[in-house]
Amino acid sequence: MDQILGQVLRNAVWERLDMLADLAHEADSPALISVARSELPRLTEGWRTILRAHEPDERGDCPTCSTRWHRCKAPCSVWQVAHDHLVAGGLAHVPESRRATGRHALAGGHSR
Ligand SMILES: [Zn+2]
Repeated sequence: MDQILGQVLRNAVWERLDMLADLAHEADSPALISVARSELPRLTEGWRTILRAHEPDERGDCPTCSTRWHRCKAPCSVWQVAHDHLVAGGLAHVPESRRATGRHALAGGHSR
């Protein structure tokens, strides 16, 4: 994949994530439930696909993050991010006032 196509692909994913985050804040309840029903399974399946690629191999290393010269011990950074977001810092349990702050912090975290 050339550099421009890669950029287009990455922008499309960032925009989709922004759209979903905006919906969570702006949509009324019936729309939100509808989006949650369609999008949550897609998001969880996406996480599963990513995490399967980062399951430890028989040596306890991440096969995706490791190179021939540098072994990366599992759990790698992908698993750490997954745990931070899905388990330790479940945003659904954060009060509304803190959630807004957290969202802006996240939005500022990625470069385009
Ligand atoms: Zn990994």
